Amino acid sequence: MEQRLMRNSESYNIVVDCDEVLTDISPIWVKKIYENREKFEKYFDLRDDVDASSIDPFSESWREYVLGRDKFYINDWLRKKDLVLSEEEEKHLFKMFYDLYDNDAFYSECLPTKFCEGIYKLSLQSYVKKIYVVTRTSENTYTGKERFIKSFLPTDKLEIVFVKMGENKSGYINKIDNVSMIADDEVKNIEDIIDNCSNKHRKVDFYVPHTGYNNPTAELFEKADKSEYKLKYFPILKSSENIAI
Ligand SMILES: [Mg+2]
Repeated sequence: MEQRLMRNSESYNIVVDCDEVLTDISPIWVKKIYENREKFEKYFDLRDDVDASSIDPFSESWREYVLGRDKFYINDWLRKKDLVLSEEEEKHLFKMFYDLYDNDAFYSECLPTKFCEGIYKLSLQSYVKKIYVVTRTSENTYTGKERFIKSFLPTDKLEIVFVKMGENKSGYINKIDNVSMIADDEVKNIEDIIDNCSNKHRKVDFYVPHTGYNNPTAELFEKADKSEYKLKYFPILKSSENIAI
């Protein structure tokens, strides 16, 4: 990522997502589900071979299991097939599930990814003007997330942009000039940004941590090419290392 930026004498802005880019939240979230197995096993397919007390959310095997999942939403991925619930039960399940994450303490358990460390190193370079962390955030995680981001990206160049639930990121990113690099993991965001920010930025390197839920399609690459985005999937799991992009 440095080489491309260094070729230009002008300084650039970088836009990065937080969750599953600067830190992996889902391995910790799923660990908490296993720690509450008695509450969730009625609704979710949980592995019998996993003992909650021995889960290391940062281990290769746990990351492979959780980040290698084929669905973005954890509650969709784990949900038992053919589970039918009343509206009330659906609400109850969602609340139990979301409460595990949606609190001030969650981000104190999080660690930065290698990519986050790379972004910090980039922030030290004179050709990087600002690092914008554009992240969709609930009210209860706002403070904890901000604390996490500031402690692992301790730089005056940091700007945190909180996007409300249900809002698109493109509206915010469109207001930022001279973007040379973007990173996000969610296909919906990648498409939103490519579709709606393409006239604003010329030639942007778009970094995507390769998980099980964001496998690229030929259509996505075509769309990126047309909009002058260079999609750069990078492996974060053993299983994604050998997949040629
Ligand atoms: Mg994300």
